[in-house]
Amino acid sequence: MPKAQETVLEIDLNALKHNFKYLKSKLQNGTKFLAVVKAFAYGNDAEEIAKYLQDLEVDYLAVAYANEGVALRKAGITTPILVLHTLAVNCDIIIENCLEPNLYNAKILNEFIAVATEKQQKDYPVHIKFNTGLNRLGFWENDVDYVVDKLKETSTVKVKSIFSHLAASEDLNEKAFTLGQIENFKAIAENFSQQIGYQPWMHTCNTSGILNYPEAHFDMVRSGIGLYGFGNSEKESAHLKPIASLKTVISQIHNIEKGESVGYNRAFKSEALFTKTATLPIGHADGISRVYGNGKGFVTIKGQRAPIIGNTCMDMIMVNITDIDCKEGDEVIVFDEKTTSAETLAESAGTISYELITSISQRVKRIIKSP
Ligand SMILES: *Cc1c(COP(=O)(O)O)cnc(C)c1O
Repeated sequence: MPKAQETVLEIDLNALKHNFKYLKSKLQNGTKFLAVVKAFAYGNDAEEIAKYLQDLEVDYLAVAYANEGVALRKAGITTPILVLHTLAVNCDIIIENCLEPNLYNAKILNEFIAVATEKQQKDYPVHIKFNTGLNRLGFWENDVDYVVDKLKETSTVKVKSIFSHLAASEDLNEKAFTLGQIENFKAIAENFSQQIGYQPWMHTCNTSGILNYPEAHFDMVRSGIGLYGFGNSEKESAHLKPIASLKTVISQIHNIEKGESVGYNRAFKSEALFTKTATLPIGHADGISRVYGNGKGFVTIKGQRAPIIGNTCMDMIMVNITDIDCKEGDEVIVFDEKTTSAETLAESAGTISYELITSISQRVKRIIKSP
């Protein structure tokens, strides 16, 4: 890769392939793999990532919202796409774009069946979600009879899968709770399948579930963060390769004397006799939120850490380069595989890799490194 001359997010499809193969190696033969590409594939580039995963013969894709699925269909993706968060207003476009809805409560179930009926569908694939303790989306265990009754009244839809979501699959201190969720899910699935008279697929594991609960892989697993290179534990992250590198460049260097300040509200004041600062073309509108300001976050220039000083601006940050031999135009690493991972940078400000990588805004140019 040539040195960055502006703010860029480099996306390495080889690393994606490595992560996909690694996660698949944890599965039994025949267990299907659903790749979660919501939120622009966690801030990367949903179209490029989905196309590449489709080439690698991933079984399923998932997005959070219908419009994300529509964009993938427009980009020519033909792999089945599960919409994890169906909203009543989107039932039409879900069917029009061959997307598959998660039906998680009575309102959405009834609305979807009504729209499928109006559109004269037959056995349209749907996915039923049960809540087993995350308390976010999903029918309750004692809704099974109601759901089955509703489904038996119509031939417009057919249940492709039933699923649940683990609340703490990455936290082994919560193992007893997670095993309880898994048992509860199994009981719900058994009751559901018996009553409906056929056997939909079952799935409940996200990335950490894949790694920590092999007994709960069932028919399919759903991975997001692992594909992008993070395993929610040092041990697992060591096997995965972050696919994205965020780089920028030094726009301008300033020499500040003792008592002078840097940035809005004079948040940084030089206590040293002399401070050298670099202004970088990346700010909170690019995804480096204000929590990274005032010495929490840092970048790397010529192999040395330069802390962010003062408040993060919308389009810029200033970093302390007093002890770094560098010049205007030099490359700056925000995160990459070798220097500082997004996980480490996120931790510096008390947040998590998921939040940092999904925040990299669409203004930042994506560069795809193809295998
Ligand atoms: C986002 C999401 C996933 C992916 O989780 P990761 O921890 O990124 O692997 C899986 N299932 C559901 C329901 C989700 O919302």
